Amino acid sequence: MIDRNGKYSAISLITHGLRKSEWPRAWRAHDLRKSYDVVVIGGGVHGLATAYYLAKNHGITNVAVLDKGYLGGGGSGRNTAILRSNYLTPEGVRFYDRSLELYRHLAADLNFNVMFSRRGHLTLAHNDGSLRTMRWRAEVNKLQGIDSQVIDPAQVKELVPHLDTSDETRYPILGALYHPPGGIIRHDAVVWGYARAADRLGVHLHQKTEVTGIDVVNERVTGVRTNRGAISAPIVVNCTAGWSTLISDMAGVRTPVQTFPLQAAVTEPVRPFLHAVVVSGTLHVYVSQTDRGELVFGASVDPFQSYSMRGSLEFVEGLAAHVLELMPGLSQMRLLRQWAGLCDMTPDYSPIMGTTPVEGFYLDVGWGTYGFKAGPVSGESMAQAIATRSTPEIISAFGLDRFAEGELVGEKGAAAVGH
Ligand SMILES: Cc1cc2nc3c(=O)[nH]c(=O)nc-3n(C[C@H](O)[C@H](O)[C@H](O)COP(=O)(O)OP(=O)(O)OC[C@H]3O[C@@H](n4cnc5c(N)ncnc54)[C@H](O)[C@@H]3O)c2cc1C
Repeated sequence: MIDRNGKYSAISLITHGLRKSEWPRAWRAHDLRKSYDVVVIGGGVHGLATAYYLAKNHGITNVAVLDKGYLGGGGSGRNTAILRSNYLTPEGVRFYDRSLELYRHLAADLNFNVMFSRRGHLTLAHNDGSLRTMRWRAEVNKLQGIDSQVIDPAQVKELVPHLDTSDETRYPILGALYHPPGGIIRHDAVVWGYARAADRLGVHLHQKTEVTGIDVVNERVTGVRTNRGAISAPIVVNCTAGWSTLISDMAGVRTPVQTFPLQAAVTEPVRPFLHAVVVSGTLHVYVSQTDRGELVFGASVDPFQSYSMRGSLEFVEGLAAHVLELMPGLSQMRLLRQWAGLCDMTPDYSPIMGTTPVEGFYLDVGWGTYGFKAGPVSGESMAQAIATRSTPEIISAFGLDRFAEGELVGEKGAAAVGH
């Protein structure tokens, strides 16, 4: 229910709820067409952003996004929503920074509040080796014009007073890489915003539509088979993150991807006290506080490959121990819930984007534990690659052929702890 000013007021929301009348749908349901110009597999942030920019930037609207479940049901609805661009390689830094730039204007672009909160990002160094990597990253970042610097323990304490910065801890804090533009966002708002905007431009969003096969004739993709019927399409894009190898295998394209679960957890809400994102690579943990006051914790991937998305007791035990090393004052906080998502890890911790040996079959995969922040730039550059039939400069380092040619883009030093 909309009030006289065309806005949802608190009273109009309650009245609407009590009346049990239908909410207007954010995007429409369609019958499956027999053919589309582009079929995008995966309705996470990458698939939806690709469809949105195809329509918005290139006028290609005969596009279907297929998801076997619901939109955002994969990593896009399970991540800890941390955004940053302080990576280790110039290719990575440039790429993720373009994404941050798009995120900064996304709410206005999509006309949907995605709740981007720029609050600073701190990566702690607990030993000389990691301090050296932080200095390295800071220099690479600065050369790319990114706001990033190494700060000392006193400055860390000033930014995050609840951190134990004394030198009596088992893992003393020797300094940190400080990245003021980093922050958090509302992940499901990003997914819904892209879905709604793509729908308005004419894209078809098909939930509960599972791709079960990909048709390839003479090394050229001709369509997909789904649980709702076959679709012919000259372009098929694989945006399925943790399931990406299953889809690539259907097209006969092999990728060096391994799938691991990544777990996260959230506490009860408390009054806001943590105004930056804090990461410790040594302790395999990171934490931020949402606008609602909950602490959101993440970690590194589970130490075994699996397609399971169940949480484990081992994870929360380790997490609690490591968080308390950093912030002993949190010992009385209660965890509300934990969950897991799937991560498609590549050997160099960088994504795989662009064309494949099968003509018309594109990859936007290998997003590991860090792909949510890359959603906008990936969508923008995949759409450009498809529309112009050429590889945009910003993703040229991330091609599948780099593994055969030995030209890896090593991001492990900046991406090993999830996010
Ligand atoms: C716990 C956790 C924390 C994370 N934290 C961060 C973070 O803080 N910052 C960050 O940048 N990244 C983070 N990530 C990584 C991030 O979530 C992913 O890289 C990103 O969401 C990938 O988006 P996507 O659109 O490529 O894939 P997804 O969102 O996973 O979407 C893929 C979709 O493909 C669908 N699909 C699969 N198979 C088929 C099929 N056969 N047919 C049709 N559809 C299919 C799935 O249903 C799914 O919806 C985190 C991940 C996890 C699990």
